[in-house]
Amino acid sequence: MKTEKKEISTNEQVMMECPLCGKTHRVEKKLQLAHAIVKGEKVHYHELFFVCGNCEDGENEFIPADAMDENLLAARNAYRSAHGMFTSYMIVDLRKSYGLTQRELSNMLGWGGATISRYESKMIQDETHDEILHVVSEDALEAMKYLEKNKGNFDEKRFGEIAAAIQEKISRTSLNYMTQKLLEARYMEFKSRDDLTGGTKLDIGKICSMASYFAQKCHGGLFKVKLMKLLWYADAVFYREHGHAMSGLVYQHKPLGALPVGHYELMGVISHEELYDNFEETAYKILPSENYDESCFTEDELNVLNKVVSHFKSYTGKEMADVMHKEDAYVLTADQAYIPYSLAKHVTI
Ligand SMILES: [Zn+2]
Repeated sequence: MKTEKKEISTNEQVMMECPLCGKTHRVEKKLQLAHAIVKGEKVHYHELFFVCGNCEDGENEFIPADAMDENLLAARNAYRSAHGMFTSYMIVDLRKSYGLTQRELSNMLGWGGATISRYESKMIQDETHDEILHVVSEDALEAMKYLEKNKGNFDEKRFGEIAAAIQEKISRTSLNYMTQKLLEARYMEFKSRDDLTGGTKLDIGKICSMASYFAQKCHGGLFKVKLMKLLWYADAVFYREHGHAMSGLVYQHKPLGALPVGHYELMGVISHEELYDNFEETAYKILPSENYDESCFTEDELNVLNKVVSHFKSYTGKEMADVMHKEDAYVLTADQAYIPYSLAKHVTI
């Protein structure tokens, strides 16, 4: 592994026996951007090193053996991240989400007992194992299948405890997960239709964040009809200004304006409460989701969202539909037709 120094980014002090001057004293702990070759590929990562204040510049830096291991792991995790693979941290999180030790997760997946320990400390998993880690992390139902398949690796008590932890996650997340899969399946047919998707792959996390953003800024309460229009305006304005859409949603010409394909399913993943009026009609009031964090947006995205919300903040859903009815995207498309992004450049805000 070759490294090259680039920049020093952060520091703290640690008491240790210094290998440079031989005394026990406080040394500075620092990070620098470095690169390494992993599996024949150049990756960038943060390299940990220490600085002795008693030695001269140029001869005052050192990396102890345990920090060397940490750096190796950081480089390998950089490689994993770059390839969309499970990092060692993600494996730890996965284990903890089910309350498993390293050996137990290996046993649950039917792998050799030391496999997970190796993946967390030094080895990069192969493609098959990576795929399985993704699946059992995203889908608790799959995790349960693996546990049941390898039941023989656990005593009855421990099996029951792990099954209960997985069951808890199923109740909490599986409906949401399946709704996402359903949406992804519905959008498969638009995979190569950049004219309809705005050249953006459906990003459900982004859409939930957009809904949360709008819900926070519309003080009078945000309901479904208005949200659907806000999403279209955000996508259209973003497309006009940056040449691609934000969300990857496909919109259809409907009586009340632009409506995303899969809007029922969308309401299954967007945080909301259901209110009923006198006629027992359901109204969906959008709420900011618990784990919403504005930092998930780029500056360009925030500028567009802010522009859209400043314009429409005080509009009712009905008033927004009236404005939408005058847009070329609406006037120039037939009832039920998909709205092409070529019309986004005429958007009036
Ligand atoms: Zn020293």
